[in-house]
Amino acid sequence: MEYKAPLRDMRFVLHELFDASTHCELLGNGLDRELIDGVLEEAARYTGGEIAPLNRNSDEEGVTLENGEVRTPQGFVEAYRQYVDNGWASMTGPTEYGGQGFPQLVACNFHEMLMGASLSFRIYSGLTEGAVLALYKHGSDELKNAYLEKLVSGSWSGTMCLTEPQAGTDLALLRTKAEPQADGSYKVSGSKIFISGGEHDMSENIVHLVLARLPDAAAGVKGISLLLVPKFIAKADGTPGERNALSCGAIEHKMGIKGAATCVMNFDGATGWVVGEPNQGLACMFTMMNDARFQVGLQGLGIAEQAYQGSLAYARERLQSRGLAGAQHPDKVADPIIVHPDVRRMLLTQKTLVEGSRMLAAYCARQLDLEHGHPEPSYRKAASKRAALLIPIVKAFFTDMGQEVASLGVQVYGGHGYIREWGMEQLMRDSRITQLYEGTNGIQALDYIRRKLLGDGGTELSALQADFSEICDQQVDRPALHDMASKVQVRIGEWRELSAEIIAATGRDAQEIGAVSVDFLQYSAYVLLAGLWLQAAARAQDALEQGSGEEGFYQAKLASADFYLRRVLPRASAHREAIQGGAGCLMALPESDFAF
Ligand SMILES: Cc1cc2nc3c(=O)[nH]c(=O)nc-3n(C[C@H](O)[C@H](O)[C@H](O)COP(=O)(O)OP(=O)(O)OC[C@H]3O[C@@H](n4cnc5c(N)ncnc54)[C@H](O)[C@@H]3O)c2cc1C
Repeated sequence: MEYKAPLRDMRFVLHELFDASTHCELLGNGLDRELIDGVLEEAARYTGGEIAPLNRNSDEEGVTLENGEVRTPQGFVEAYRQYVDNGWASMTGPTEYGGQGFPQLVACNFHEMLMGASLSFRIYSGLTEGAVLALYKHGSDELKNAYLEKLVSGSWSGTMCLTEPQAGTDLALLRTKAEPQADGSYKVSGSKIFISGGEHDMSENIVHLVLARLPDAAAGVKGISLLLVPKFIAKADGTPGERNALSCGAIEHKMGIKGAATCVMNFDGATGWVVGEPNQGLACMFTMMNDARFQVGLQGLGIAEQAYQGSLAYARERLQSRGLAGAQHPDKVADPIIVHPDVRRMLLTQKTLVEGSRMLAAYCARQLDLEHGHPEPSYRKAASKRAALLIPIVKAFFTDMGQEVASLGVQVYGGHGYIREWGMEQLMRDSRITQLYEGTNGIQALDYIRRKLLGDGGTELSALQADFSEICDQQVDRPALHDMASKVQVRIGEWRELSAEIIAATGRDAQEIGAVSVDFLQYSAYVLLAGLWLQAAARAQDALEQGSGEEGFYQAKLASADFYLRRVLPRASAHREAIQGGAGCLMALPESDFAF
């Protein structure tokens, strides 16, 4: 399936909504609008021209394991070489280790393109950036000097090794061991499952970040350490040296992302080094996981964009039946299906969820940049809280949205959507994993309520709600935007009440936390997108009032905002009602009565 990066919409979000040039100036990274646009155009050429054409074959061919070596699908090795040689791998890496220091606000567009072009291909590099962050923030100088430059350049790749057969969501159950050695290193033993890119032929070396227990470690999550365990131990000159005692025992056969190797990794007394403090592994891993969760959110967005593009092209070409109001194209044997209101409902639902999520991704990316790069510590702290609040929403909402948009894509294609050659069913299969890994979406919702809402008594969420309320206040007196702004303001008031109700209810009954979490996350996301659609409408209205030459583009933004507020936002009401249904009806049924 062809993939064409949505450059015009990306530029709208970057420059017209979030003023990327001023943002870059504040961060002091020397990027201006011309440079940003030039990089994204090149990124669009690379992802559309080199990566997207590999996607379908990678699904058909899959990966193979022979004598412990994983062979990736045809074309992946060459495309990855270009990824490294052309500097795409080092885009966000720290400059002191050879990275280009691009802000997330810009880079997230490239990453969305990669995910849309081929999720399987992106998976091999996706965790390297998180490994760089974790090592950069928590690693010793010795480890950084030996491993960071190669990871930043992409010539070595990174993995995240958490999951074990008995320890998935509950990492307190993990058993992999790390025995200290006289020279300060550790011998790591244990088996990890489901490791993305655990073994492959695309990079020279693979650096595993492994969660394990030291011999004297406390039980539970307080006794977990993070270790760097390379496939080849780095030599003093920075080249790959001795082969470490670890191997890929098997690769999984799975529903989707068939071009991505999902490996059982066996560590048989492999040499490793602790990253950060012993027994503080989970905190260090969270640095990597936060980045990975944001990236997985972008996976949902990228696939959704691809599904929308395919659906739109098909709906314009497929001729079936006449429009309800009479023939729209009498010269043809039938009208294209885009004339039918129900097909339009599907396309506009896809479009507004995708474009709305792109705005939220940029909003979150901006906070991530400010967290790391704002000159003032107080701003860094504020941005860190805001990003932490948003990450579970981005991860869970975008990936649920990706699956919905891909499923709508299958529906738009009718029976052809179910047939492999059209590519839509691949998108639906590929996107399904995003709702599961990096913490299932149920766990994201628990994180959102437990750590992010209840963790500070609702303070940060109130601040977010106040910011969005202000956007409504700014627009409500403009006649063209009055109705939209009023509608969003009502939802924000309702969101505040609902947050207070949840804080009170969870105080009375802890079961309420898990009973309302998914609905509250979804509710919050729909209202956030409504606020962002209002902002988009305001920018579009500004442009039209100033006589912009792109009337069609801005009118489409206004029409899309209107559709979202009338036809998608009402879903929030269903979530609110479900939340108010409470935990009682979930817990009343005795386990023995679930089936007779
Ligand atoms: C293709 C693929 C790639 C992966 N890549 C990696 C990787 O690179 N590195 C890595 O370490 N792992 C990886 N994983 C593992 C993935 O992160 C886990 O599968 C995921 O975290 C869920 O763990 P689990 O499968 O054991 O499910 P479980 O933890 O057994 O969960 C089963 C169900 O119970 C729910 N549940 C569990 N606990 C709770 C709770 N406390 N409250 C409410 N609901 C709960 C879950 O939400 C889920 O619906 C990958 C998995 C796959 C399939």
